[in-house]
Amino acid sequence: MTQSTTARVGRFHQGRLSEGRPQVLDAWRITTDDAHVAARVASLLGGQAQQNEGGGGLAHEVLTNRESVRVLMDGPDAVTARMVLWSSKGITHDCDGSVFLSPQGKKGQPCGCHPRLEDKKLAAREGRGPVPSIDLAFRIAAAPMLGEFHFMTSSWQLAAQLSDLMEALERVGGPAACDLTTELVALTTKTGRNVCYRKPVVKVLGNPDIVAPAPGGQPPHA
Ligand SMILES: [Zn+2]
Repeated sequence: MTQSTTARVGRFHQGRLSEGRPQVLDAWRITTDDAHVAARVASLLGGQAQQNEGGGGLAHEVLTNRESVRVLMDGPDAVTARMVLWSSKGITHDCDGSVFLSPQGKKGQPCGCHPRLEDKKLAAREGRGPVPSIDLAFRIAAAPMLGEFHFMTSSWQLAAQLSDLMEALERVGGPAACDLTTELVALTTKTGRNVCYRKPVVKVLGNPDIVAPAPGGQPPHA
């Protein structure tokens, strides 16, 4: 992954590996290399700090009991998004959905992806087109001093909301309090099959001076 290089204290995850199999969780899982941060996260968001056996490379994990965590995002720059197609040789297509972002020689040239999201999705499903690669950077609103966390996702639902998200962050102008939620989606397919999954949702609430650092709390300047 060639994402933001800012020092990061930990990561948010919607799932983990359980005996080698991917498992979707009902609440955020947070990983970090810092035992102190893991303990603080557990006291703020529930769960227990434990040795990370669920994947992601960092030493500690906390299975919180929060579907939604209030975070601070520092403007539109907190969002990094691209579209990437991987093969066994590495990245074969790296674009923003309409023009190439790399390699240097092709940068800025039309990449040939479909303009419509539905068509992009179809191309990706057939292995012809890239998938979203989104990185959100934020601090936990109740404990910003812990440092910067990241959430990386290839969610098409979040990709579809990115321009609205960037605009909302722009409007706040500076750090914005947001709710980052792993939201349950339950639906019945055309063939009558019941499907459940979790999609990441970011809701921008506004300036942290007038928004409580945790849901149900008091804003700092109420
Ligand atoms: Zn493209």
